[in-house]
Amino acid sequence: MKGSKNRAKQRQKVAELHEKVANQRKDFLHKLSRQIANAYTAVAIEDLNMRAMAQCLTLAKSTNDNGFGMLKTFLAYKLAEQGKQLVTIDKWYPSSKRCRYCQAINEELTLADRIWSCKCCGAELDRDINAAINIKNEGCRILGIA
Ligand SMILES: [Zn+2]
Repeated sequence: MKGSKNRAKQRQKVAELHEKVANQRKDFLHKLSRQIANAYTAVAIEDLNMRAMAQCLTLAKSTNDNGFGMLKTFLAYKLAEQGKQLVTIDKWYPSSKRCRYCQAINEELTLADRIWSCKCCGAELDRDINAAINIKNEGCRILGIA
């Protein structure tokens, strides 16, 4: 009897901790989305395939709780409140594989390639910075401010 009472108490404590962490994350995402919405006129984000990303081992921890989905939702309404725009870039847009200088596509790029050289123009590209600039440029193109 005493054992089951202790287990119930433990489960209650774990549930409270989960709630606390979830609230802290939500609070952080509210602050982050507020900062972004206040600082920029338009925001372009990639519409990631969350399920595919969650299945990818190294990305699983950061994506499968859908913090990104929550951030996107908060961003969308906070930008809209100020008459600003959130542009979602299609998940098939080759933001990582496209060279931001000459637009050539590197079909051989893998997730392990953090820095790569464009075979077409020879540019040295940081995977994440290149992708971010491509997403920004595509967002500007969609908004007609390129
Ligand atoms: Zn290039």
